Amino acid sequence: MARSAPPADWPGLEMVGMTELTDDIYYGWLTHETNPTFWHRCSALADVPEERTVHGPWVAAGTSAHTLVSREPLHLEPSLLWRCCGLHGFVRDGVWIPA
Ligand SMILES: [Zn+2]
Repeated sequence: MARSAPPADWPGLEMVGMTELTDDIYYGWLTHETNPTFWHRCSALADVPEERTVHGPWVAAGTSAHTLVSREPLHLEPSLLWRCCGLHGFVRDGVWIPA
């Protein structure tokens, strides 16, 4: 069964300012990171039983290699690409723009 939102309090990944970009993409802030950390609902895990996953369908990924153009509204460059499932898009003006 899919969770409706990613865990904001996962040990070691306790995030503040968790923000929903889409139903499937959230970001938040780790205290020791300048750039945001993302959760995405990974389509590659859609059919994997939750007990065999780490965070249910959610996969966490940092953006330390990206340029934080603006924190509020969030703007990162270049685009984000998660190779686990091929999800690809830009975050500009606080909005997810599919690539
Ligand atoms: Zn994925």
